[in-house]
Amino acid sequence: FYTTSIDTENGTARLEESEAHHLLHVMRLKTGSEVHLFDGNGNAWRAFLTGTSRRSAELRLEEQIAKASLPTREIVLAVAPPKGDRFRWLVEKATELGVSAIQPLKTERSVVDPGAGKIDKLRQTMIAACKQCGRNQLMTFAQQQTWEECIQEYTASHHLLIAHPHGHNLREAFIGVEPTRSLLIAIGPEGGFTEEEVSLALNAGAAPISLGQNILRTETAAITCAAMATLA
Ligand code: SAM
Repeated sequence: FYTTSIDTENGTARLEESEAHHLLHVMRLKTGSEVHLFDGNGNAWRAFLTGTSRRSAELRLEEQIAKASLPTREIVLAVAPPKGDRFRWLVEKATELGVSAIQPLKTERSVVDPGAGKIDKLRQTMIAACKQCGRNQLMTFAQQQTWEECIQEYTASHHLLIAHPHGHNLREAFIGVEPTRSLLIAIGPEGGFTEEEVSLALNAGAAPISLGQNILRTETAAITCAAMATLA
């Protein structure tokens, strides 16, 4: 279960809202049950349920089982959001693969502009995916940016890669890039990046990467890149 209400000095924790609902009314756990808690920053504990009310649960921390540590490399997926459930799928899989952050992009041919409500729902999907796969560090959602703003923000700190059907072989994209170097991987909308947007990225030093002969949907391209980057 995910909670930020953890008091390590007193060895107690509390679950509220959707996490309390999951524990009390979906899993129907009783006092004395053992659970794992995580704080979203990489820390996790073994804990026991000590008390419940209709809307909250009290726990006693037993043992810390994971400690926050810096990830080996930060991987940001800059993506022009695909429509409807496809974005939810992308967020779930990116969480499982260990992507650090999603940077929603506004591009010339973008058709989806996720508002705050949509991002809140995606955050719930991401937390559920963390619980399912045992990830203790949350994936973050950056504020939506134009492609130009994104390049400006990340060029100095990240190695930029842009998925483009005329790019280089993806397998070679990580050769010579230090394993600790942060990466930003950009995926275009269903209509693709415009020539100007591709040029903007290339002029900023981005490496164009191809994912094979077939044209993949945005979310398939994003997850292919994420898998290669996290396993590289
Ligand atoms: N007609 C568009 C084009 O030619 O760019 C297709 C866009 S595709 C549905 C959406 C995004 O996924 C692209 O902008 C690109 O970033 C990525 N993508 C899809 N297939 C790819 C491939 N084979 N190689 C590299 N990137 C790809």
